[in-house]
Amino acid sequence: MSISPTESSVCPVCASFLPFREFHAHMRAQHPDYVAAQTQKDRDERKAFAKRLAPAILVWLAAVLLIVLFYSRDTAVIIGLIASMWVITAWAGWYAHRATQADTASLESVARECRVCGATMDGVQMEEHLRTMHPEEVRYLKAARAYSFGVLAAIAALMLFLWYLLFPYLRGTSYRSFVQIVTYGTVFIWTGAMVGWRRFVDARHVRHVRRIWDSSHGMQWTAP
Ligand SMILES: [Zn+2]
Ligand SMILES: [Zn+2]
Repeated sequence: MSISPTESSVCPVCASFLPFREFHAHMRAQHPDYVAAQTQKDRDERKAFAKRLAPAILVWLAAVLLIVLFYSRDTAVIIGLIASMWVITAWAGWYAHRATQADTASLESVARECRVCGATMDGVQMEEHLRTMHPEEVRYLKAARAYSFGVLAAIAALMLFLWYLLFPYLRGTSYRSFVQIVTYGTVFIWTGAMVGWRRFVDARHVRHVRRIWDSSHGMQWTAP
């Protein structure tokens, strides 16, 4: 089975195959309500995240300075401090997730089509629909999520190691710019890995399961 390289993306709303480069143009033109809900959610999430993270980082930096200057520079202490940074980040992320549940609900209320059988429903119904009608698709989505978190954890571990190696050489402003480089680097590599998944794995997978569905139900799946 082959997939046309020009149709390597699947729309999450109408489930039609799209050329990879046209994904964002399609979303904006065809599903402005979905894009608006997503944008709103992203914006509120970022705000809520920063609201918790910014003061926590200040306290954290002060604690790091005090501990490193007056207490200990043991490897274990440094690793503990860096690890606590990730705990703070995760906590801020969890808070942002909880604080934007209204945004999540309005995003979920936008109607979408099942990418396996083409049935139309809202996001909450879709979860239930996938569970009852396409349990193997739920397994695939779980694997995709595990891949996503696994890649993120691997990059985070790598960055942590890099940070640990360079920590003794960083002072003042160079320290701040290094934090920025680590943060942007993580986001950049992770985005690349996710784009790769969508580009080379996901569309192939959807084409495959849709073909199986079509042949077992004796009909052609029709995209709008
Ligand atoms: Zn679409
Ligand atoms: Zn379905």
